[in-house]
Amino acid sequence: MSILKIARMGHPVLRARAEEVKDLADPEISQLVDNMIETMVDAHGRGLAANQVHVLKRIIIYIPPSDNENTEEDEELKEVRILINPVLEKLTDETEEGWEGCLSVPEMRGVVPRFKRIHLQALTRSGVAIDEELSGYHARVVQHECDHLNGILYPMRMKKLDTLMFDSEWPHWMASEQDNEQPR
Ligand code: ZN
Repeated sequence: MSILKIARMGHPVLRARAEEVKDLADPEISQLVDNMIETMVDAHGRGLAANQVHVLKRIIIYIPPSDNENTEEDEELKEVRILINPVLEKLTDETEEGWEGCLSVPEMRGVVPRFKRIHLQALTRSGVAIDEELSGYHARVVQHECDHLNGILYPMRMKKLDTLMFDSEWPHWMASEQDNEQPR
């Protein structure tokens, strides 16, 4: 296995559309998935799309939200989910806002609206069909990663850029928001 170079915002590979995986049995696909997992864990990311490691294949990996939020399990030890050729469909026009970051936009975060509920179809790495409804954080992560496969980065989904900021400034921003919420 090896750690791959992560493309950062501005590299054209991040604006390109990835191609469907045609042969799941291709050993190169299996090796790519293993390398993507190693790369994501090394970079302390929660998700990674193949575009981000300069490969235009429709493959995403991510750490799904824990069923039990009280577990103190090390995040890196949780099962990484692998989706091949994912297809999304929104199940509602309703959106909700949440903070997102991205390994291709390092050390930054921003508030992004995402559909609250989506229908996901994809294949696992062994070719088993996935067909399910997702909501909340899980739906957000999958929308973020699938956007990569279509050349879209999260800042392009932001309604306003006033929450696009450096991670290190986020505590200051949060503190000032709380001050603004104090009754006058
Ligand atoms: Zn990303």
